[in-house]
Amino acid sequence: MNAGRFRTIIRHSVVSSFSSPIPNNYCQRHSIGSALQICRTYSVLTPKEKWKLKQAQEKSRKMPETRKELQPWPQYIEHRLTLWNKFKQEYEESLASKTPEDITITLPDGKEVAGQSWKTTPFEVAKGISNGLAEATVISKVNGELWDLERPLESSCKLQLLKFDDEEAQAVFWHSSAHVLGEAMERVYEGCLCYGPPIQEGFYYDMQIAGDGVSNADFPVLETLVKGIVKEKQPFERLELTKAQLLEMFDYNMFKKRILNEKVDTPTTTVYRCGSLIDLCRGPHVRNTGKIKALALTKNSATYWEGKSDNETLQRVYGISFPEPKQLKQWQQLQEEAAKRDHRKLGREQELYFFNELSPGSCFFLPKGALIYNKLQDLIRSEYRKRGFTEVITPNMYNVKLWQTSGHWQHYAENMFSFEVEKETFALKPMNCPGHCVMFNHRPRSWRELPIRLADFGVLHRNELSGALTGLTRVRRFQQDDAHMFCTPEQIGSEIDGALDFLNHIYGVLGFDFQLRLSTRPEKFLGDIEVWNEAERQLANSLNKFGKPWKENPGDGAFYGPKIDITILDALRRPTQCATVQLDFQLPIRFDMNYIAENGEKKRPVIIHRAILGSLERAIAILTESYAGKWPFWLSPRQACIVPVGPSINEYAGTVQKQLYEAGYQVELDTDPGDTLNKKIRNAQLAQFNFILVLGDREKEAGTVNVRTRDNKVLGERSLDQLLSRFKELTETRSLNSDAV
Ligand SMILES: [Zn+2]
Ligand SMILES: [Zn+2]
Repeated sequence: MNAGRFRTIIRHSVVSSFSSPIPNNYCQRHSIGSALQICRTYSVLTPKEKWKLKQAQEKSRKMPETRKELQPWPQYIEHRLTLWNKFKQEYEESLASKTPEDITITLPDGKEVAGQSWKTTPFEVAKGISNGLAEATVISKVNGELWDLERPLESSCKLQLLKFDDEEAQAVFWHSSAHVLGEAMERVYEGCLCYGPPIQEGFYYDMQIAGDGVSNADFPVLETLVKGIVKEKQPFERLELTKAQLLEMFDYNMFKKRILNEKVDTPTTTVYRCGSLIDLCRGPHVRNTGKIKALALTKNSATYWEGKSDNETLQRVYGISFPEPKQLKQWQQLQEEAAKRDHRKLGREQELYFFNELSPGSCFFLPKGALIYNKLQDLIRSEYRKRGFTEVITPNMYNVKLWQTSGHWQHYAENMFSFEVEKETFALKPMNCPGHCVMFNHRPRSWRELPIRLADFGVLHRNELSGALTGLTRVRRFQQDDAHMFCTPEQIGSEIDGALDFLNHIYGVLGFDFQLRLSTRPEKFLGDIEVWNEAERQLANSLNKFGKPWKENPGDGAFYGPKIDITILDALRRPTQCATVQLDFQLPIRFDMNYIAENGEKKRPVIIHRAILGSLERAIAILTESYAGKWPFWLSPRQACIVPVGPSINEYAGTVQKQLYEAGYQVELDTDPGDTLNKKIRNAQLAQFNFILVLGDREKEAGTVNVRTRDNKVLGERSLDQLLSRFKELTETRSLNSDAV
């Protein structure tokens, strides 16, 4: 089941008021949070290891006998196929009855190719250019719409041919892989397939299964079937059918029927066939299953229909696939590297933070973790002062009346913790915006005061399902570097300029590259179209001025305003969305906010929600993994470790420690008599102290320290003054490359 086109994957929106509850395609939006989770828990298993694992699980859990391919196949397969053959024949007859006309196909470089309507396919056009291109093309785009390579063109058009390096092509490739997995799952479990979308990396398929759930001991049999399906090079065939025809075809599957009845609002929609699988799907897909040369199943989990806990329980199987086996190998190596950097592992090893079942999803930050947390806040705070933001402190819990006004109660209540206080309902805030609206409305506002930029590190709570919680990337309690700009419509451009400059600065300090996208007006939007157009024009203008390349996500804005999504790339080039700059035309209406304009008239302000780090918790997860625990000096909870060569130096070592500590640095002293000098240095390096200061008789006499780095670079003797002035410089410049003293 698919996404017509791949849309930006949205994690629970970082700063926006609430996201639309109605998915605009069949595919459930999937969060980056869980996508990351896959990478982190994935471990590469050789077939032998898989076999061993399978054996072990069978023994220990007394699993039912290992699953095999069902013989015979589930009955519904034949039922679908009979109908398919009938409808396919009708389609071919209707195609044959069309009179082909001469058409012109325009390629991106302006080159024109002659073709015939209802005959010429994008694949033929690609082949006309070169066989290599035709084979490397994953999917085509016709007049900007994704289009199956084998689907005949209908009129003169613009044609693009996308390869796997294109994000949309990847989504099509992974979605097609989900069909291959679905085909195998039907032949093993018989159950009812639900949704099978692409995710940020890979894909999954959900299925309702009677009896025992999926076990990863089933992966070998599924993977063997997948290999067979790939070898058969089954073509993906497309048919457009009426709702009635489809309801008959999917009579056995209440989920597909639900989708047809609840989500499909057109008289016809499409189904696709590959091999034994016929699936309700908007497509498009790769030409045939043979394109998927490498596929691995990565994990499985239980989930609910549409993610709601009172709905049916489903089994989800995740996978990853590539056009070339070597790409899968590279991906697996990256997963191994990522697993070494897992922030939960490093957080434990470096004593930064932990979780406890007494408060799931709420992190305990130990002193060293809290230090990082506070330094990140200090970084943002120091910029607030320069950039005209003022910090405010607002309540954590509000009467439900506030949430009714803001609209959260209608659209977001299930994500909020609510409770009764003196017979009234209250809820913990999941975001700061409504509180800031109350603050804006606290007294009349004049145009002279605008823009007002209110910043808030307030504690937020969101009621995530306990099963969805993952380390610091998916939590219930978090703080954001959140701010709201209240401005006139004319000020949008300059506020966006400022927001882009701000995030450019912060990501520069942290060492992140980033990508920008503009998400524009969706089909279902609220407000005045003129206001939208003008705001989108100002956003595009700011992005052009900013000078970094950006992409447009047409129709992907929130219903209450367009936005700029910022995706950062960490040291392993893994993308994550932290920042959003979101315009909001609706909240000012809901709160009936206004200001007195220069001419004395009452006017409506615009709100801009923005955050740069997003949640500090998640930012710390990303930083931990990106730095692999090697914190830059300014952010490091272990800046220097003093190692005296023997007891006679301990006193001098103590005075050095005191001086550094009093100057504000994180410095520790190792006087443990049990370890050798080399062992102590090695320990300090493994603990990722930026500097190790070795002190002996010579240093004691001269009042100096002997400096080496965690990468075992010996920098030599320095006076304490030299050391302190270098530490000061590294702190003030927030240098990323802090190992040269
Ligand atoms: Zn599909
Ligand atoms: Zn907000």
